[in-house]
Amino acid sequence: MNEFAVLRPSSLREALNMKAKYGKRAKVLAGGTDLVVQLKRKNISTSVLIDISRLDELRFVKVDGHVIRIGTLTSHSKICSDPSLMRKAEPLCEACAQIGSPQIRNRGTIGGNLVNASPAADSALALLALGAEFVIESTAGQRIIPAQEFFLGPGETALRENELLTEIKFKALEPTEGGAFFKLGRRNALAISIASAAAWVKLSADFRVVEEAKVCLGAVAPVPLRAVRTEEMLKGVKVDSLELRDIEKSATEESSPITDIRSSAQYRRMVVGVLARRAVESALRRAAGQIDAGVSGGVVGCD
Ligand SMILES: Cc1cc2nc3c(=O)[nH]c(=O)nc-3n(C[C@H](O)[C@H](O)[C@H](O)COP(=O)(O)OP(=O)(O)OC[C@H]3O[C@@H](n4cnc5c(N)ncnc54)[C@H](O)[C@@H]3O)c2cc1C
Repeated sequence: MNEFAVLRPSSLREALNMKAKYGKRAKVLAGGTDLVVQLKRKNISTSVLIDISRLDELRFVKVDGHVIRIGTLTSHSKICSDPSLMRKAEPLCEACAQIGSPQIRNRGTIGGNLVNASPAADSALALLALGAEFVIESTAGQRIIPAQEFFLGPGETALRENELLTEIKFKALEPTEGGAFFKLGRRNALAISIASAAAWVKLSADFRVVEEAKVCLGAVAPVPLRAVRTEEMLKGVKVDSLELRDIEKSATEESSPITDIRSSAQYRRMVVGVLARRAVESALRRAAGQIDAGVSGGVVGCD
């Protein structure tokens, strides 16, 4: 690691002033589970580290009517064990419950997972499926962008050098809506996704027809991917006549994975279709009010 100065702002305002002053010369430290590894491996270097980990004003889960707001310093452990999120944000709880190990979930933050911008980032995929918006702040003010516009490439986001990601917002799941997240890693724990899928569906009031759907695929493209053709296939379809094999095939066709140390592209393509089918199936069951414990990735391993 190179030598750097560590700054510890005591408020968000102070942190934003530091960001404005140092710009890209400074790196932001939240939980450090990605950043410290990169600094130690000398993949990145910095002269200033802005340690925002003590800013409690960015650590919250709030349910404002139908809107859920999560501060970006909130840990994965807190999200997957928050009772107010269980039914209202199922895919996100499932994604956070499957990140790393208890230590990583206690230390790692949702903001860090998003800004690190790995195509395999588990919370990113769930938030894409939930149609989340990201609140970004600088000394010049606030802007809000859809999750889909935030990810530009591996490690690249729409965040400017003087900005911080401060909050995530999305609509709580309604009674006719359901969502699910599934991932496959090389082990059951402490494993970055080889491939992952998240789904969200909204059924008609009589639970018979799919009105809207989102299907998202992880680790199979340069960014967390919306499988838009698969989503179109689902819209307007009667639940009884839905061919889940077609969903699997379509998701596979929409993926464009690479081969790396974790998996071959061929295996990823095959697996992501299966995960998408399971996520859609589970989301449909949940939207129809059926309990599918044991079918989904499940909220397991939370502290
Ligand atoms: C052993 C291990 C296992 C892991 N397993 C998984 C896994 O299963 N799934 C998964 O998705 N990830 C996994 N990760 C990756 C990592 O734990 C997560 O991405 C974590 O959420 C990062 O959060 P952090 O708070 O530690 O981020 P940091 O390391 O502190 O920061 C990450 C990046 O985000 C920037 N940043 C952080 N917060 C903000 C903010 N509010 N505004 C602007 N920039 C910000 C930092 O400058 C840095 O560039 C794993 C990591 C390890 C070491």
